Amino acid sequence: MSNKHEFQTRVIHAGSQADPATKAQITPIYQTTSYVFDDVDHAARLFALQEFGNIYSRINNPTNDVLEKRLADLEGGTAALAVSSGHAAQLTTLHNLLKSGQNLVAAKQLYGGTINQFNHAFKQFGWNVHWADAKDNDSFKRAIDKNTRAIHIESIANPGGIITDIEAIARIAEQAHIPLIVDNTLASPYLIRPFEYGANIVLHSLTKFINGHANALGGIIIDGGNFNWSKDDRYPILKDPNQSYGGLEFHKALDNIAFAIVCRALSLRDLGACLSPFNAFLTLNGLQTLALRMQKQCDNALRLALFLRQQDAYVSWVSYAGLKDDPHYSLAQKYTPKGAGAVFTFGIKGGHEAGKKFVSNLKLLTHVANVGDLRSLVIHPSSTTHSQLTEEQKITAGAGPDVIRLSVGIENVEDIINDIQQAFENL
Ligand code: PLP
Repeated sequence: MSNKHEFQTRVIHAGSQADPATKAQITPIYQTTSYVFDDVDHAARLFALQEFGNIYSRINNPTNDVLEKRLADLEGGTAALAVSSGHAAQLTTLHNLLKSGQNLVAAKQLYGGTINQFNHAFKQFGWNVHWADAKDNDSFKRAIDKNTRAIHIESIANPGGIITDIEAIARIAEQAHIPLIVDNTLASPYLIRPFEYGANIVLHSLTKFINGHANALGGIIIDGGNFNWSKDDRYPILKDPNQSYGGLEFHKALDNIAFAIVCRALSLRDLGACLSPFNAFLTLNGLQTLALRMQKQCDNALRLALFLRQQDAYVSWVSYAGLKDDPHYSLAQKYTPKGAGAVFTFGIKGGHEAGKKFVSNLKLLTHVANVGDLRSLVIHPSSTTHSQLTEEQKITAGAGPDVIRLSVGIENVEDIINDIQQAFENL
């Protein structure tokens, strides 16, 4: 698929072709664990990475391959690796960058589950986190020390709807020679393509907007191909000879796809968080309508944010970067002019108890721990997704006691508004 085609075309066609074996138009589900080698020399070449090809579905699978190629194309990266969930994408990425005793600098404004993963699970590996503030770019510079090996931000932060200044943080990362990882889950490449602003690695929870139908978990790591892993000795997994691949020097041998290949050849092989081809199939199916869904969801979100703004009796504040007087409006204009995403928060008058009652009163919006579905969703983050955080962490992550998070779907917007209206009136 040529890069000359527009996004709306590539989202349907990139990376796919008629199935070579059957001419099936739709990418088949290659529900197989293993692949027959041509002969022993062929097998040996595949195992030594002298030739790319299918070995075993923990490492590669033809259905997943189409999804990987499509996302690499849509984000403008060089190569991609699909994994079992967004969390697995984060684990797999950092596994190749950090050793025990080293640290990553991360924005405080992240999905609550990511804050937990970084604070707890990763600490067990001896990986430390230095928290920075997505609203204060210089805080990233201050948080970097000689042991920092990665910077992690979300392009649009979950749940607060904050727009992160990717370009400014990428400059800081470049000066410090540290890769910038951008979780682009809430924006999707339809709204923001972080590589255009200097990011080095893009991650997604495929579970959200990319799939859009809430029927499969998945994650993806996309290599920007724009980081020099051999400039100094900080990234030995990429630079040094690897004993488990006969002394292969990944960066030297694989150049601008080295990071994606390291994640596959080492982390998928050894950590095993592979994506089921059935989930890849469902994700590919959903992905085809991303451009249509995302635009409609952004349009509905803006309309809903404007409606909520007028509900003084029930609503104390609305945080949506698409509103002209929102503090993130100018960043939204720069990074996401087509719309400020479909996930945002508002404060309900009456705090924690009113929040819980409001959620119970809704009839059309469903109460689930998810975002990015084509259905409109609601949650009270303080008692659910962010409940494991301290009160202070909740507030900095945009998940205080009065916060309601909406993920706006593609339904008729008047129906969504009417449901919210009746939920307010029945408080
Ligand atoms: N990143 C963001 C921004 C998320 O919202 C989520 C989940 O909600 C994740 C990562 C983790 O993804 P998954 O649930 O697929 O592991």
